[in-house]
Amino acid sequence: MKLHVMIAVLCLLLVSGWAVAEETPIGEPPHWTYEGAEGPEFWSNLAPEYELCGVGHSQSPIDVKDAQLSDLKDIGFAYQPSAMSILNNGHTIQVNYDAGSSITYGGSDYTLKQFHFHHPSEHIINGQSAAMEIHFVHQNAAGYLAVVGVMLVEGSADNPAYAPIFNALPAEKSDPQAIGTINAADLLPPGATFYTYTGSLTTPPCSQGVRWLLLTEPVEVSAAQIAAFAAIFEMNARPVQPLNTRELEQDNS
Ligand SMILES: [Zn+2]
Repeated sequence: MKLHVMIAVLCLLLVSGWAVAEETPIGEPPHWTYEGAEGPEFWSNLAPEYELCGVGHSQSPIDVKDAQLSDLKDIGFAYQPSAMSILNNGHTIQVNYDAGSSITYGGSDYTLKQFHFHHPSEHIINGQSAAMEIHFVHQNAAGYLAVVGVMLVEGSADNPAYAPIFNALPAEKSDPQAIGTINAADLLPPGATFYTYTGSLTTPPCSQGVRWLLLTEPVEVSAAQIAAFAAIFEMNARPVQPLNTRELEQDNS
């Protein structure tokens, strides 16, 4: 085959998606990425169980703007120190947290399960993207999720509360490894004012019915800490999704 014919055939295969088709190992969710042929705009095509990523009307993240000021009850944080186990799941760095820490919101207790990071931030607040965003994932007894999101911005010094995590980031996909004890409360900003809306997981299967609580105050980490994460995940943020008819509220306090 002449070279130009071979190139034409190869291009055709790439365009048709043949060359990127990947067998999914049994028991593992279908593969997805943040860029290319398995990127966010194609998630819903990768597997039937990812359909909501394309057709859902309550998706996350969103562009947080024009929030309605409301008298909302505070988020009741009841975080305790916990042993941490850290892993790289191929999409982010996740820290698993022991049972016994929770938030109360809307009359429901949600237990902190894990927290993980995105670079850059997934939510955009009043037109501003942040260097990173941390998601504290909680679940209540009925199985519903509440995620507390905190923007991480570049400050002048290493953030010592985050150091045990940023010093132990697994560069490759890994099983959980113990990295000592932390109190997740130390990772939060001093203020607890927030935006809230109902959305989804920001990764496949993009399940909806997630209560999002985005703290308005950011936390500073150093350029070196951001760079340590970015060296492993250059980009692991889903683009913002339309708000549609949902309410976006900001607490009045
Ligand atoms: Zn997340």
